[in-house]
Amino acid sequence: MMKKEDFNCKHCNNTFKARVVDRNRGWAQFCSKSCKAFHQAKIRRTLEALIMEETVDILEESVYY
Ligand SMILES: [Zn+2]
Repeated sequence: MMKKEDFNCKHCNNTFKARVVDRNRGWAQFCSKSCKAFHQAKIRRTLEALIMEETVDILEESVYY
């Protein structure tokens, strides 16, 4: 039988059971598929926000120089 342990979800912090072997592979970071989807969407929005800020900088520079 596979060894299972309690872990905290990276997104909602809920406790969930996951196989230790999966954790060792970098899997089982989230309690559910929707939490994983939410977390990845958040990362994407953060990246987009960073890209937007850079674009604004470039636009402002082109106005002044
Ligand atoms: Zn969760």
